[in-house]
Amino acid sequence: MRRVPDPAPHPDDGRTTGTERDAASVLPADSSTTAWIRSRRASKIEPDPARPIAHFREAERRLDGSRPVVLHVLLAGAECPFTCIYCDLWRRTLDGPTPPGAIARQLEIALRETGTLPATCGVKLYNASNFFDPRAVPPGDDASIADLLQPFDRVIVECHPRLVGRRCLEFADRIPGRLEVAMGLETADAAALARLNKGMTLEDFDSAAARLTSAGIGLRAFVLLPAPFVPVARAVESALDAVRHAVDRGARHVTLIPSRDGNGAMDELREQGLWTPPALDLIEEAMESCARVSGAVVTVDLWDIDRCRTCRRCRPARIARLRRFNLTGSPGPPVRCRACASSS
Ligand SMILES: [Zn+2]
Repeated sequence: MRRVPDPAPHPDDGRTTGTERDAASVLPADSSTTAWIRSRRASKIEPDPARPIAHFREAERRLDGSRPVVLHVLLAGAECPFTCIYCDLWRRTLDGPTPPGAIARQLEIALRETGTLPATCGVKLYNASNFFDPRAVPPGDDASIADLLQPFDRVIVECHPRLVGRRCLEFADRIPGRLEVAMGLETADAAALARLNKGMTLEDFDSAAARLTSAGIGLRAFVLLPAPFVPVARAVESALDAVRHAVDRGARHVTLIPSRDGNGAMDELREQGLWTPPALDLIEEAMESCARVSGAVVTVDLWDIDRCRTCRRCRPARIARLRRFNLTGSPGPPVRCRACASSS
């Protein structure tokens, strides 16, 4: 059963810094939500489409327990056509469409600079948008991109569920490795999801998931921790619901994304008590809950983990614990700290 966020002040465990309120009290009607979000944006730093934004190697746990290297390539391309309320990825995107040939050239540079790859290696192509959006990755580039992906046994791209179509299935056939598509589920709370301005329902996610899995394409999912409009007292339970929702629909890798402010809209939601930045103990609690989910690898995105509130003394040990969890799937013993009397 899906819960509807409680518009009334929510009794919680003391972690709430604001009062949960009905989104309708601060957000305009749906038709103008995009304008509301965009009007709160600061300026972007447009990247150079002649080279990738970044590339790096990282070990990643698979369901069979192996931990092969995955080459991450952050591609410079066009902005996503959706304007999700929580998103800050637009800050490093192009104003116009991605120039033809640019993505393949960026990938070439990343491969050349990376050098020798291990025999078993995956690659993540993250373009801060949707891989199968023709404005972000021109379809005419698919063949040359696929040629460059020959060395990899897994190819992971990200895409909005509504942009997963025939091109995605054809791309899977072009590459020797297995294609995996990561989609943002964000939350399984239908009412909260509707307010994220993602232009997606749970049914959209589910039907794209079915399309992918029936074609033998791997499914990954992103879950926000916490999603805006989900009271912080229910954040862990709600994230676990979303993880289970994704796994039940075939996801074999789910990443919890600690939600963050800084995009303007989230800062305002925080001020209005509609979203609370996750403290590190909340992330650890979610990690412990998700460790019990079977049938999928669950990890915590540690990209911006230093932003999360916690005791300065035990912070490094707690972050190291999350890092170990990502690699082993086991939460391990809790960190004990005299400074904050923490045992979580
Ligand atoms: Zn401490």
